[in-house]
Amino acid sequence: MLIAHRIALDPNNVQATYLARAAGVARFAYNWALAEWQRQYAAHQLEPTVPPPSQLSLRRQLNAIKRVQFPWMLEVTKCAPQMAIIQLGEAFNNFFARRARYPTFRRKGEHDRFSISNDQFRVEARRIRIPNLGWVRMRETLRFTGRLVAATISRQAGRWYASITVDTPDVSLPPAENQGAVGVDLGVSTLATLSTGETWTGPKALRTLLNRLRRLSLGLSRKVKGSNNRARAKAKLAKLYARIGNLRRDALHQLTTSLTRRFHTIGIENLNVKGMLGNRRLARAIADMGFYELRRQLEYKAAWRGGQVVVADRWYPSSKTCSACGHVLETLALGQRRWSCPGCAKTHDRDVNAAMNLRNLAASSTATACGGEGSGPVPPHRMKPAPTKQESNGEAALSNNG
Ligand SMILES: [Zn+2]
Repeated sequence: MLIAHRIALDPNNVQATYLARAAGVARFAYNWALAEWQRQYAAHQLEPTVPPPSQLSLRRQLNAIKRVQFPWMLEVTKCAPQMAIIQLGEAFNNFFARRARYPTFRRKGEHDRFSISNDQFRVEARRIRIPNLGWVRMRETLRFTGRLVAATISRQAGRWYASITVDTPDVSLPPAENQGAVGVDLGVSTLATLSTGETWTGPKALRTLLNRLRRLSLGLSRKVKGSNNRARAKAKLAKLYARIGNLRRDALHQLTTSLTRRFHTIGIENLNVKGMLGNRRLARAIADMGFYELRRQLEYKAAWRGGQVVVADRWYPSSKTCSACGHVLETLALGQRRWSCPGCAKTHDRDVNAAMNLRNLAASSTATACGGEGSGPVPPHRMKPAPTKQESNGEAALSNNG
C-alpha cells in the first residue's frame, strides 16, 4: 500500500537556497514542456506525419539541449526537471480522462516544489539525503517502513516539507471492536461530530488559532490592495494557515485511529473539488483543508483492519436530510445549528443529523465503498512508473501529494 508522510524540514540557509533553486528548475522545465507540448501538438494537427508530443519525447528533447541552453539546470538534481515533465504528462493524462482541467503554467511562489525518484534520495532517522546537496534535517522520523517510492519537496508559507511516499508491506491489525457503522461530519469549531453524538473539539491551541485567523482575515480585507501592509498581513495569514493545517492533521490522526479501531464501516462526506477552485467562505476552506487529510488517514487505517470507508456522493445533502424520516429541506442556513423536521416533527442538531445520515448511507451502500477506484491513500492514476531512459531513473512519480 502506498502511503505518504509529510515531514517539515530544517534546512540551513545554503540548503534552503538550493531547495528554492531546484523548485525553480522544476517550474521552468514544467513550463518549458507545456509550451513545447502546445507548439508540437499544433504542428501535429497541421501535419499528421509530425509526431505528437509526449512526456518521454519532451524529456529527451530537454536533455539534449539543457547543457547548452540551460546550463544552470545542472546545478540541481536531474530529478527536478525530469519529474516535473513526468508530472506534466500525468496532468495531460488526467485532462484526457476528464479528471482535471487543461494543465496551466506554474507560477513562482505558488506551491513551489520538486520531486525526487526513489533511487536518488535516502532517509535515515531524522534526515533526508538530497542529490547535490547532502543531508537535510527533518523534524520527525518517517512514520512508515517499506520501500521508498518518491519524495516531493515543497514550500508552504515559507517552510519546506518533504512528502515521502512509501510502499508499505500489508499491515494487518485486529478488526474493529464494533462491526457496525459510524458517520462523521467534519466541522470547523468542533473538529468532527459523530453519528453517536460524540463531538471532537480538537486541541485548544487550534481554537485559539482559528480565532486569530478570523481577526486576521478581517483585518486583511480592510487593508489597501497592493500596499506593503497588505502583503505583510497576507504572509502572516499564510503562516497561520500552515500552522492550523499542522494542528488539524495531528488532531485528525487521533480521531481516525479511534474511529478505525472502533468501527468497521465509516461514512464521510465528499467534496466538490471543482467548486473548491472558486472563492469560498473561510470556514468552509478550513473544513476542506481537513477533509482530504481525514479521507486519506481513514482509508489507510481502515485498510489495516479490513474495515471500509464509504464516501457520500458529492451532491448528497447530508445536512438537509432528516435522518429519521428522510424528508429533505429546500434550504438550511449555514448558521442554523438546530432545526425541526416538517415531515416527522423531530428536532435535529445539525451536525449530529448530518453524521447520522452519513452513517445510514455507509451502512446501506457498500457499492461506493473504498476498494474500487480511488482506494488507498494515493489514487492509482497519480502514480506512474518513470521509464528508465537516458538519465531518468526512478520508479514512480507523484504529481502532487500536498
Ligand atoms: Zn423527519
